[in-house]
Amino acid sequence: PIILSQTHFTHQDSLTYPFEERGLQFGDGIYEVIRVYGGEYYSLNEHIERLFRSAEAIKLKLPFSKKDISDLLQNLLNRNSMKSDGIVYLQATRGSAPRNHTFPSATEANVYAYIRDMPRNTDNLANGVSAITQRDTRWENCYIKSLNLLPNVLAKQTAHENNSYEAILHREGIVTECSSSNIYLIKNGNIYTHPATKRILHGCVRMHVEQFAKDLQIPFIEEAFSTADIEEADELFLSSTTSEITPVTEVDGKTIANGKPGHITRKLQEAYEQDAAISTIN
Ligand code: PLP
Repeated sequence: PIILSQTHFTHQDSLTYPFEERGLQFGDGIYEVIRVYGGEYYSLNEHIERLFRSAEAIKLKLPFSKKDISDLLQNLLNRNSMKSDGIVYLQATRGSAPRNHTFPSATEANVYAYIRDMPRNTDNLANGVSAITQRDTRWENCYIKSLNLLPNVLAKQTAHENNSYEAILHREGIVTECSSSNIYLIKNGNIYTHPATKRILHGCVRMHVEQFAKDLQIPFIEEAFSTADIEEADELFLSSTTSEITPVTEVDGKTIANGKPGHITRKLQEAYEQDAAISTIN
């Protein structure tokens, strides 16, 4: 496979990482995960915009313009003759330098991006998934897509060990988001989700969900809900680049409504498929 390293293309095997790399030692960097359907990007510009917002938030200077990285990422697909469904992972760190917390003065951002095959999880999309609730123990700047994912990793692992797909995170009972997705509750025909503050990642799919809701004339209310509200929910779903719009049918071992994906969730899934020009296989 061919990967992007800085602004050059190289073979994946030839990428090496020094010990004193700030991404490795401090998690001092940011990343993006971008969906590819049938060899074409979905929402590329939104991801590039967020990459630059994250970079600015951690005072990291990227070695390319938005237009340049867009062209480079397009080229990455072409060079790999990518034709299937997958993701591109892009990471930018503050480079390598002798270990010291303060920023190195002369180093450039260290950037790479590569492609991975990733089929759509049509089973989850059709039938829904289960989740567990957990405390949100992360920092105050969750809107930055930073490499510091240890709380997310631990939360998702706990979910996995409890035979669940996701961890729904809450701060004193107020649901923020999940370990790697945004979450929405539907009650009486309204969609509720945590406002796009610094406490959540502003998901690219979340932006689309807001637009789909508007198009479908379903109220999209940026008002946080609580873990107690989940028990009374008509529908619950999560969203992310890799999970798209996935129904959540069970939380902490209790079914949501009748335990089946709800009809508003279905409408949003249809809108997503139309927007991304894809269709379910089954
Ligand atoms: N929230 C968190 C913590 C995430 O890691 C992600 C994405 O992986 C999301 C939300 C959803 O963001 P997006 O829709 O841009 O993939």
